[in-house]
Amino acid sequence: MAETDRVVIAGAGPVGLCAALYLATRDIPVLVLEAGDDLAIDLRASTFHPPTLDLLDQFAGIPSELEAQGLRARHWQYRDRQEGAIVTWDMDVLRDDTNHPYRLQTEQWKLTRLIQSRLAAFPHAELRFGHKVVGATPKDGAAAVTVETPDGDKVEIEGRYLIGADGANSQVRQGLGIDYEGLTFPELFLSISTTFEYKDVWSDLTYVNYIADPDEWLVLLRVVDAWRVLFPTSLDEDREKALSDEMVQARLRTVCDPGVEFDVIHRTHYGVHQRVATRYREGNILLAGDSAHINNPLGGMGMNGGIQDAFNLAEKLAVIWRGEADDSLLDLYEEQRRAMAIGFVQESTIRNREMLKETDSKIRQERHDDLRRIADDPARTREYLLKVSMIAALREYEEQEAA
Ligand SMILES: Cc1cc2nc3c(=O)[nH]c(=O)nc-3n(C[C@H](O)[C@H](O)[C@H](O)COP(=O)(O)OP(=O)(O)OC[C@H]3O[C@@H](n4cnc5c(N)ncnc54)[C@H](O)[C@@H]3O)c2cc1C
Repeated sequence: MAETDRVVIAGAGPVGLCAALYLATRDIPVLVLEAGDDLAIDLRASTFHPPTLDLLDQFAGIPSELEAQGLRARHWQYRDRQEGAIVTWDMDVLRDDTNHPYRLQTEQWKLTRLIQSRLAAFPHAELRFGHKVVGATPKDGAAAVTVETPDGDKVEIEGRYLIGADGANSQVRQGLGIDYEGLTFPELFLSISTTFEYKDVWSDLTYVNYIADPDEWLVLLRVVDAWRVLFPTSLDEDREKALSDEMVQARLRTVCDPGVEFDVIHRTHYGVHQRVATRYREGNILLAGDSAHINNPLGGMGMNGGIQDAFNLAEKLAVIWRGEADDSLLDLYEEQRRAMAIGFVQESTIRNREMLKETDSKIRQERHDDLRRIADDPARTREYLLKVSMIAALREYEEQEAA
């Protein structure tokens, strides 16, 4: 087998590494090129939805190891800042629909670390740090990337296929001239992590709480060692000042004031986008994860959708590699996963943001009543939770395969 007979993957985030491990376990040579000097350990996604955990079951032991480092959230809540809990959902109603009828609260970097150590066991899997992809070229039956190496050289690296999993600013996508259509919201999201125990204030909180308010909605998410508090922030606010000790303490005091300083262990703010690439495929080059789509974090669907891309794509590449299908199967990847991103993830996350910030009290009340009616009806509860847990859409779009 020629050295270039491999799958090259740009980016060692959760998406690139899931694709790499799937392929490596099927004896397919993979080379992962990562711009950073190590795997990122920034605080980003911290929620794994049931169908993502079901996919990860294929990496024996990884879901349980992730769970050992996280929290099982069987319940999650929709609240109103004035009224308190509107509905507390019990995901156990999905026990016949998934192996994991709960959300797993654990940071995405824990998954990438686990996959890195698994990949190390395969001689045909290589992860090269400090290799920044700066361009991508489709070739006849192959694909090439231009890479800046740690020595400062620029080299061309070839593979039979290339997966662009190099995040929202994907050089692979931009190098191919593929548009990233959509919008950027005129606000930043401010994320503050504190060891303060919010359950001492609201004992009925769950590990995941979406809290609606016409003036300042927020999300309270529990991870093992902290509560993460997410707020919207105006673009007009001085960005440095918004992260100052004084402002961070003041923002936290708007939620509750314990009369002491909050112990803040992390703070960041970031722009929020809703975008989908106009194409996911150019010859033997495929986009996956944030390089293909990005959305606001309300509902926790970005990383989950990206990991689902990785499994869908890697499964098809493995079938093609074994000679059981031709490359046209890759068009189905684009069809299924773009449909999921546009028809489900974008719609849901935009709706979630609108619900949380609704200013019309009549509409807000109607929505709360509607949620309560759903919660009172077991069949409708299951249907609702199948939807927001990404199970229903995944089933619907993946059924296109059989059509
Ligand atoms: C604050 C925050 C909270 C979030 N919360 C959630 C959540 O609760 N649930 C959820 O599902 N999603 C969430 N997301 C989104 C989630 O983090 C992303 O969707 C996810 O990281 C996408 O994975 P990825 O592998 O596609 O890209 P990334 O994680 O961005 O990984 C891309 C990798 O490629 C590398 N890279 C970049 N450029 C190059 C290059 N030119 N050459 C080589 N390597 C390169 C990067 O260093 C990185 O390692 C959140 C995001 C943020 C910012």
